[in-house]
Amino acid sequence: MEIDFELPSPQRRIFCNRTLNLRSIRAIGFDMDYTLIHYRTEVWERHAYHHAKQRLLEKGWPVEHLEFDPSFASLGLILDLELGNVVKANRFGYVKKACHGTRDLSFEKQRAIYAREIIELADPRWRFMNTLFALSEACLFAQCVDLLDDEKLEELGQPMAYRDVYAGVRSAIDEAHMMGELKRDIMADPERFVDLDEELPLALMDLRAAGKKVLLITNSEWFYTRAMMSYAFDRFLPGDMTWKELFDLVVVAARKPSFFEGDGAVFEVVDEVQGTLKPVVGPLQPGGFYVGGHARLVEQVFDIAGQQVLYVGDHIFSDVNRSKKILRWRTALVVRELEQDLEALEGFKPQQAELTRMMAEKERLEHAYSQVRLLIQRKEKGYGPQAEESAEALRERMQAIREEVLALDARIAPLAKEASELSHPRWGLVMRAGNDKSHLARQVEKSADVYMARVSNLLAETPFVYLRSPRTSLPHDHGPSGGA
Ligand code: IMP
Ligand code: MG
Repeated sequence: MEIDFELPSPQRRIFCNRTLNLRSIRAIGFDMDYTLIHYRTEVWERHAYHHAKQRLLEKGWPVEHLEFDPSFASLGLILDLELGNVVKANRFGYVKKACHGTRDLSFEKQRAIYAREIIELADPRWRFMNTLFALSEACLFAQCVDLLDDEKLEELGQPMAYRDVYAGVRSAIDEAHMMGELKRDIMADPERFVDLDEELPLALMDLRAAGKKVLLITNSEWFYTRAMMSYAFDRFLPGDMTWKELFDLVVVAARKPSFFEGDGAVFEVVDEVQGTLKPVVGPLQPGGFYVGGHARLVEQVFDIAGQQVLYVGDHIFSDVNRSKKILRWRTALVVRELEQDLEALEGFKPQQAELTRMMAEKERLEHAYSQVRLLIQRKEKGYGPQAEESAEALRERMQAIREEVLALDARIAPLAKEASELSHPRWGLVMRAGNDKSHLARQVEKSADVYMARVSNLLAETPFVYLRSPRTSLPHDHGPSGGA
């Protein structure tokens, strides 16, 4: 093969919040679902939605006519259980866009409702969409809010609040995941659900050959993990090698986030075909397959701790927030939507340059407007330095500037609208809320040392990469406009 010394394209890079030298990492743990295995989200979520809808139908909810809308929500949105809304917030927790049920809220309404609210995710009023598994839940919740508003849930008996609607939807989604049917459908027809990544097995082999312990730590249970890993990995491995030989330790049904906190009982898988288990006494053994347990047991096996472990997952709370906060593991988040965001941003570059230029011009005009206005005020109230021009002449100048600003606004508006619809027509770029970072981006920044669109980006970056966080930008770095 040819040697490629070019840096990977933006879509294939690993982005860094906190400097991470991969050479100093001794063990890398991987989550499975939406990390090592990427699903065709629309198909998987439609299926989960279907099963959850069946659960609601069994409980008498009038939901037969509802259909999954894959474009309704996106990662990182927040459900407002008190008001039945779905919102997008910026890094400070201010709501920047909202809908009530499935219907968009006008800017004025959204402002009237949320002007005094700052979202604190610890408050049970809010539910953060931590993973792509939340897409079906958000859609079903919003649709059921519409039903409640239209008085279609009255036949269920007791009066319901939006919170109760959420509780019903949540338990239906939960049951869909826990009951065997959904997983059975997926195991029976993985081609439909799984988006294969041919480069991934080699990326893991590189890490292992570089001397790192490679671990799989998933909440999925044994039979499902085995079926999915075997489907997605074995075909790309040399000779008779199977996915099991890629890992120094496998933990299934890990019950993250408690896995990082607790002292859960651990069992060994003694018969891989039957899935027979036996309780473990004493330390885990390298190369073993385990059910449950907790993170400290894993640290003991390889005599490693904290900064020497990197955990790679897609769930912002369960995978990266907890492992960092409790164990001080290094963390990597997989955000597949980043590919879409980066592509949209690349295509919008010329328009963005024009938008930035026009905003700088607007700032200049607004400054001139305020200056003239102040001169009029001083003239009228008879204090401070006085302009030579008459108040009348100053008013005319102010009017002329105002007209220039309005003309500029008319040119800015369509471009600003286009910018807000990049990547997703309703919610925009996942990592941004307008010019600011989105609440999701803030969570990523707080909990994930690095983030990437897909795990196989490790292949091109190599096991020896030194990921340095870029010099961060502060408002005063860019001069008064904050742009350019
Ligand atoms: P991981 O990402 O590999 O840790 O595994 C995620 C597992 O959690 C998958 O088996 C999902 O089906 C399951 N899961 C995702 N959301 C829910 C839920 O709301 N309730 C129960 N299980 C869930
Ligand atoms: Mg996952």
